[in-house]
Amino acid sequence: MKRNPLFWSVLSTALFAGSLMGCQSTGKTADTTTTTDTSVKTASNEVTATDTKPADVVTDSSATKASASIDPTAIPASKIADAATIIARKQVPVLCYHQIRDWKGTDSKSAKDYIIPLATFKDHMKMLADSGYHAISPDQLYAYLTTGATLPSKPVMLTFDDGDLTQYTNALPVLNQYGFKASFYIMTVAIGRRGKQHYMDKIQLKDLSDKGHVIAAHTWDHQNVKKLSTPEDWKTQLEEPKAKLEEITGKPVRHFAYPFGLWKEESLPEVRKRGYLTAYQLAEKKMNPTDPLMSIRRIIAGGYWSAKTLSGNMRASFH
Ligand SMILES: [Zn+2]
Repeated sequence: MKRNPLFWSVLSTALFAGSLMGCQSTGKTADTTTTTDTSVKTASNEVTATDTKPADVVTDSSATKASASIDPTAIPASKIADAATIIARKQVPVLCYHQIRDWKGTDSKSAKDYIIPLATFKDHMKMLADSGYHAISPDQLYAYLTTGATLPSKPVMLTFDDGDLTQYTNALPVLNQYGFKASFYIMTVAIGRRGKQHYMDKIQLKDLSDKGHVIAAHTWDHQNVKKLSTPEDWKTQLEEPKAKLEEITGKPVRHFAYPFGLWKEESLPEVRKRGYLTAYQLAEKKMNPTDPLMSIRRIIAGGYWSAKTLSGNMRASFH
């Protein structure tokens, strides 16, 4: 399908407008975690959260490797917890980034929520590392949510949406510096695009995958999933992008993020049916009570957020 230039302009605007959803903090300050923004890396056996819920997040760092190599498709259906159990587990913070680059004069005020200056991004990653966070994969998150599998201490999931080239050129070296692995949600129509905004190409996606990062789906052309309904829609937006990314990486693609973070109840079984194990939203403060794995929460780590703001918002938003 051909798209005219207006489409890309609208898409670009919509990306920013839509991404606004869910980026606000809940404003809650009741978190009682014992760490502070300036805390140094915690010992592997230190329990840092004083949440009243059971300590689902096991703090044995020796679990990191075991969990990281898990095959989530090998988990038998009989071992998968029900929705209420999944929702009751302590939430793992999931952070969403878009472009990682210094601001230009032409960037609008609202666009800057989704464009994080490189120095700020470095501050974010340094804060996470210094505070003892461990970046986990979506497969690890799935195993934890479904079976209560152990996670490393202070887990966090780092996600990047759309496939902007700066994720490869600017974010990747910083991730490497701290040994963080991330997941990248790619809109397949833009792979290799070189225009007003540049996107990663197939070789770069394959390289990320080969280096242990996760390549995941984000529809073909960034459609609002709420507006999809026909079998043709699902084929174009869910099936073909999955196949395309699997062809590029040579690995199964098991995870999905809703463009703009938007979804509707009817879309959850459609996503699940097509082989995705988890799907990530932005818009709601809660997971869907029927199928929480298809509505996992994230927050956008905004371009205006200092590392201290990020730390506070992570603790306020995920509990
Ligand atoms: Zn997006």
